[in-house]
Parts: sequence; structure tokens; C-alpha cells
Amino acid sequence: MPKQIYITRKIPEAGLKLLREKGITFDMGLEKHSPSKKDIIKALKKKPYDGVISFLTDPLDAEVFDSCPTAKIFANFAVGYDNVNIEDAKTRNIFITNTPGTSSTAVAEHTVALMLALTTRLVEGDEFMREGKYRGWNPDLFVGTDMKGKKIGLIGAGQIGTEVAKILHYGFCSNIIYSDVCPCVELDKIENTTRMTTEEVLREADIVSLHVPLLPSTRHLINADSLKTMKKTAFLINTSRGPVVDEKALVYALKNKIIRGAGLDVFEFEPKLTKGLIKLSDVIITPHIASARQSARDMMAEVAAKNIISVLENGKAINSVIK
Ligand code: NAD
Repeated sequence: MPKQIYITRKIPEAGLKLLREKGITFDMGLEKHSPSKKDIIKALKKKPYDGVISFLTDPLDAEVFDSCPTAKIFANFAVGYDNVNIEDAKTRNIFITNTPGTSSTAVAEHTVALMLALTTRLVEGDEFMREGKYRGWNPDLFVGTDMKGKKIGLIGAGQIGTEVAKILHYGFCSNIIYSDVCPCVELDKIENTTRMTTEEVLREADIVSLHVPLLPSTRHLINADSLKTMKKTAFLINTSRGPVVDEKALVYALKNKIIRGAGLDVFEFEPKLTKGLIKLSDVIITPHIASARQSARDMMAEVAAKNIISVLENGKAINSVIK
């Protein structure tokens, strides 16, 4: 009997091609918006699927797994997998996989773009022009700050944090300070790079950039207390996961000039924004698009498909997140 899988939303042809080549058939949710848990369960009950390709917006827990007991794998089309109840998957012997490394370049470039947009006041300038307010060159107009030579504090120095460090070290002569639960061998080889505690990074950095997964230990890692320890002139960048930052505390800190500004691609209550955030001019917000490049999306689709194929053919996952 040919293997069949369910894909909760459309993925690029690069991944579908690999599935077809292996004779794996698939049904795919074609809605533009993310399906609710109820929608996913309804779809999974239709056939005895052998596996599922899921997205970071899909809540996956016991109820979902039990709606399709034939599925051996849920291949998450993302690096992060905080949408999955890992304990529920573990007790059912279901493979959960992710797509590590597929979007590191994209997310690192987006992170640096947010830093530059803040330091150059690019978005404020653009809005000013579009509103027809420009009356000619003025030495006081949107005076920014240099990126070159700044002390950059990375919290989390995995694949994305390391890419950010390399762009900033080689491109902007930045001093990199980082905190991670493990030392980063690749970063430690770069001149002017120092591993510190998270508290030290927060205290010393001119720009703090978050690159940790969302875990119980990283939820609200940035909160009212930690924001108070940052420099008044510092910027905070978050391209990791929204709940790593207590967004209400961040809005308060920005309003009260406790820190200088923030660049955010992810939000605590995504897609909703905390009240007051949108009104702040020292904030740049993008709609969770840091990895939105065709190259990254194609790689994510390929890696998800390869994990499906590997589990269905050999009973082994390439990128299992369950250790
Ligand atoms: P990674 O696993 O390579 O790196 C994460 C690093 O964080 C690891 O080195 C880990 O040791 C470290 N870490 C874990 N807990 C920590 C803590 N409490 N303090 C300090 N460091 C800690 O993952 P990655 O590929 O670099 O991705 C990081 C995160 O970025 C993902 O988990 C995902 O949530 C997010 N992400 C966001 C987007 C986006 O579109 N905005 C895209 C891809 C990934």
C-alpha cells in the first residue's frame, strides 16, 4: 500500500517533488490562514495517514496525535518546535523533526537589517518622506548612531546567532559578546568575541539580539527586571520567538526610555500586538518574515520531506528533536 501523508498548509514544490519521487501521496490544506487545532483534527481523521508535515502555527498535542494514530512522524516545517507537546509525542513513540540550519542565513540577515534600520532610522525617514514632510536637508534630521564598533550581545549562539556574529564581526568590526548554555566553538575562534553570562551581556551590550529557542527556561527571559539592567541607549532585537520577551514590560521600558528601541519580527501574542507597541517610533516591527526567502522555504520543504521519507522507509528520523 503506498504511503500517504497530510500537509497542513501548502509547502514549496521542492519538497513535494521528493515525496512524489518516492511514491508518497499527500493531501494538503490549501487555506491561506493557519488551521485551528479543530481543523487539523478533522483533516487527520479522514484517512489513515502515515505522517504529517506541520507548521509552527499548528498546535500539536495528545488530541491531535490521537486523531491519527497511524502517523509515525510529524515533520515540523520550522527550526523551532515550541508548537509541539514533546512529552505527548514521546509517550506515543511519534517522531518529531525540525529543519535546522535551513533559514540561518535569512534570519541572520533579517536580524542585521533590523539593527541597521534602527541605527540609521531608515523606517522613520521613509515614513516622513511618504507623508510629504521633507522640506530640505537639515543637520538635525533623524540623527542616528553608528553600527561600526558597537558591542553586540547575542543571547543564544546556535546556528542563527553564529551567522549574525559573523556578519557583524567581518562587516562592522563589532565586538561580540554572547551567552549560551554551551560554549560556541565556532564563535570562540573569532577575535574580540567573549562568552559571558546573560546578565553580563544585557548589562554591557549596545544591541542585544535574541537567538534562543522558546523553552520554559527562556520564556520571559527579557522581562521588567532584565530590561532595567540594559543600557539606556541599547536596542533589543527579537527574531527568535515572541514569548521570550515579556511584551508588556518591553512596551513600558520603551515608553519610559529604559532602553532606546527595539526591532521585532516575533510577538508574544502573535498575530496580536501588545497595546501601545504600534505607537512607539523607536520600534520596527515585521510580520514574522525573517526566514521568508524562497531559498530557505525550499530547503525547509526538502528537509521536512526527507525526514518523512527516512522515517517511512527506514524507521529513522534525520532531524529528530526528541533526544
Ligand atoms: P539553534 O538550536 O542552533 O541555537 C539555539 C541556541 O540557543 C543553542 O546554542 C542553545 O544552546 C542556546 N540556548 C538554549 N537555551 C538557552 C538559554 N537559556 N540561554 C542562552 N542560550 C540558550 O537554533 P537556531 O537555528 O539558531 O534558531 C534559534 C531560534 O530562532 C529557533 O529556536 C526559532 O525559535 C527561532 N527562529 C525564528 C525564525 C523567524 O522566522 N523569526 C526562523 C528560524 C528560527
